[in-house]
Amino acid sequence: MVPFPIEKIYLDVKAEGDWGSQTVLKALPQVPVEKIEDKRSVIKRFLSFSDPIGAGKKSLLITPFYGRRVKPCPGTSNHICCGYHVINAITNCPMDCSYCVLQGYLNNPFLTFYSNWEDLLQEIESFLSSHPHSFLRLGTGELSDSLALDTVFPISPFLIPFFAQRNHAVLELKTKSAEVDHLLHLEHRKRTIISWSLNPPKIIEEEEKGTVSLEKRIAAAQKCQERGYPIGFHFDPIIFYEEWEKGYQETVDSLFRRIDPKGVIWISLGGFRYPPQLKNIVKERFPDTKIFLGELFPGRDGKFRYLKEIRIEMYQKMVRWLRDVDPGLFIYLCMESKEVWERVFGWAPENSRHLNQMFEERLREFLNR
Ligand code: SF4
Repeated sequence: MVPFPIEKIYLDVKAEGDWGSQTVLKALPQVPVEKIEDKRSVIKRFLSFSDPIGAGKKSLLITPFYGRRVKPCPGTSNHICCGYHVINAITNCPMDCSYCVLQGYLNNPFLTFYSNWEDLLQEIESFLSSHPHSFLRLGTGELSDSLALDTVFPISPFLIPFFAQRNHAVLELKTKSAEVDHLLHLEHRKRTIISWSLNPPKIIEEEEKGTVSLEKRIAAAQKCQERGYPIGFHFDPIIFYEEWEKGYQETVDSLFRRIDPKGVIWISLGGFRYPPQLKNIVKERFPDTKIFLGELFPGRDGKFRYLKEIRIEMYQKMVRWLRDVDPGLFIYLCMESKEVWERVFGWAPENSRHLNQMFEERLREFLNR
């Protein structure tokens, strides 16, 4: 069963013969299909709606993609980035987090499935072969939720066995869903990391519409851990609110009541941040949101963040609560400056390349256990 209401499919005639398109159409037999010759004019029409993003979340566009679909994570300028690569298999997301950066980023509001699936596998293959000496990390969870649309097209069940055959690359599936049962029987050779974005229940309820509860995310992570998958967690975005300390500390406690920290490959921390153009969109779409209540200021990359001292305090406390569970946890900061790293950990990676090397070492150590 598809967990999200897809009301209409727009099928690009150029995608009609693709096996990927046929698979999606079979998975959604009740959904009306409109064949389109010119996707640009349909996108333009959607963009004139009062809430194109909301409308796009219920409409699936199936179209081929002719450009590169494996790209370096855009990261952010003047900050330390981790050298991640993004696999662009589906864009946009049926969930609806108030803070989602995709709202201001994608110029196509549709849930979009790229039908030339075989080309993507070939592209990943040649990308990996062209980096024989690196230990690469790739993920599908940057331009969508990695698991949300697996019932429409089984992206992860294709990618997991594909990565299981590689020795120097891992796939990360990032999600806020609990749709993991279809992955549990797969041969993964620890080459797929399944990771959850976590926030306290209050934030999930108020700011992460369409996602599953904290309890369900943890239960899903536990199932995956029991099947030997390396698992990860992302406390990102960490949101500052009156009772944030209690909220995040209890979230850490709830997590490690069920999860063995030794099987956690990494945990990231990232304070709420947003590009300036996002604020108006969010306020319009989520008039009751409280995410802008803290004081946020533009940084060197133009993105708004909490004051540095607030971020540092939040990270220091998070690190302390996590290290109290297990001092060996691999914790990193997402899109932060060297100075912030130093104040939080007492040291900082020299640069993005250094952080990337640390990830490689972590992977080798974790996978060779
Ligand atoms: S789950 Fe991720 S991609 Fe989906 S709406 Fe939330 S933040 Fe955006």
